[in-house]
Amino acid sequence: MTGGGLVDPLGRQITYLRLSVTDRCDLRCQYCMPERAAFMPKTGVLSVDELERIANAFIDLGVRKVRLTGGEPLVRPRVMEIVASLGQRVHEGVLEEVTLTTNGTQLVRHADALVANGVRRINVSLDTLDRTRFARIARRDALPMVLEGINAALGVGLAVRINIVALRGENEDEIPDLIAWAHGRGLDVALIETMPLGDVGFDRTDQFLPLIQVRERLERRWRLEDIKHTSGGPARYARVGETGGRIGFITPLTNNFCATCNRVRVSADGKLHLCLGQEGVIDLKPALRGGDPDALGRAIRNAIVWKPARHSFEADRLGAPALTRHMSVTGG
Ligand code: SAM
Ligand code: SF4
Repeated sequence: MTGGGLVDPLGRQITYLRLSVTDRCDLRCQYCMPERAAFMPKTGVLSVDELERIANAFIDLGVRKVRLTGGEPLVRPRVMEIVASLGQRVHEGVLEEVTLTTNGTQLVRHADALVANGVRRINVSLDTLDRTRFARIARRDALPMVLEGINAALGVGLAVRINIVALRGENEDEIPDLIAWAHGRGLDVALIETMPLGDVGFDRTDQFLPLIQVRERLERRWRLEDIKHTSGGPARYARVGETGGRIGFITPLTNNFCATCNRVRVSADGKLHLCLGQEGVIDLKPALRGGDPDALGRAIRNAIVWKPARHSFEADRLGAPALTRHMSVTGG
């Protein structure tokens, strides 16, 4: 590691990189992107080799956990080469974990290779177990593929956390059953508040569901006990007495967690996003492509001083997107 790792001016140590390997996706979740999404021009997207170099530069600067995301990371051609090279860093003991967030549609094909290349746990996004509702939320009839994918992942020994975006008037009534289903299979879940990222063609205020309300509802059915468990990200966990399973609460809108933020993101076009909830980016491409082997590390180190103190999301300003960028650019 180069002297002391990455520490921002507020003393937050950056140990976690979320690397988006593509902004493309085979689903069109309503809260994430519009049906006719405008993707990055292919010429702007980093090569597999460049994505690996970015990840390694962060690892050299003290990053200990890398999550591959997207868009849908498993639709990126040759994604497994990136997984394999990061798995090798885990094997060498310099990286603690390589993981990914996926919508699960391609897991049947990839589960074996993920395990073979050093992945131990993944997050799979699943907002409903109802096929019609799934097709409405994701605008694609893909629930059977996702469920088969989750089974394939469990079959090869991957630990799976189910990510659920809480949506008022959509999956709100189903959340307790979805949690019971996941806990019945030994899976953790994380509930996520919908964030105002990018124009999706409707007002998100209608769908916003504060997780405090979800929790109150869950507590009518179960005993929830707050626990210290962490998965390295922003989720605050509780254990359900009756099921023995864990629920993570990710509350960017109602309970800001920026003071303990340990993360930065890089999008598939090489832009460093120091905060999910702020527009500012630093383009790493010139340093990546300039020919000076030290330039990338220098650019990252210099950028960290610009990490914002907090995001700009506010629950009472959900009507319009807080940012122009969609969630599929930086991933979750
Ligand atoms: N395609 C993969 C997936 O869906 O898991 C990875 C990328 S996706 C952008 C990462 C996570 O962000 C998913 O769990 C998704 O549900 C969540 N997400 C997308 N748009 C969101 C939004 N506007 N607010 C909150 N979460 C969002
Ligand atoms: Fe695709 Fe994930 Fe966005 Fe859904 S949330 S459209 S699966 S990138």
